[in-house]
Amino acid sequence: MLRLPEFNYLRPRSLREAIKVLGDLGSDAMVVAGGTDVYPKMKRGQFTPRHLVSLRTLRELKGIRQTKEGLWIGDAATAQYGHHRRQRSRGHSL
Ligand SMILES: Cc1cc2nc3c(=O)[nH]c(=O)nc-3n(C[C@H](O)[C@H](O)[C@H](O)COP(=O)(O)OP(=O)(O)OC[C@H]3O[C@@H](n4cnc5c(N)ncnc54)[C@H](O)[C@@H]3O)c2cc1C
Repeated sequence: MLRLPEFNYLRPRSLREAIKVLGDLGSDAMVVAGGTDVYPKMKRGQFTPRHLVSLRTLRELKGIRQTKEGLWIGDAATAQYGHHRRQRSRGHSL
């Protein structure tokens, strides 16, 4: 079984904090959302970040909203939002 290498896991509480953390850590850090792509690649040595910054719980990046310009889909929106009746009627491709 492939094991994950050691890394620091950071979970900023706001988008502002996430931006600061990512700026401070630079190329030693990588963002992670669900991790289905990141973790297997770390196990195989394709990604070698020392720090992972999770954006998964940031409220600012969640959800799907109708705006004047169109549909706004947050970076941390999950498939379950696409099942909401209101959104389904506005965007069948979701
Ligand atoms: C078993 C398996 C089955 C899969 N099946 C499918 C499938 O059927 N269809 C499909 O499309 N994909 C599939 N995938 C691929 C995977 O689901 C996608 O790559 C998905 O987009 C990963 O989402 P995540 O939230 O887990 O991303 P993560 O693994 O967390 O991140 C993916 C990449 O995006 C970057 N990233 C994450 N969040 C942000 C952000 N806010 N801003 C900038 N960069 C960011 C990360 O640094 C990383 O490089 C599968 C993967 C696995 C392991």
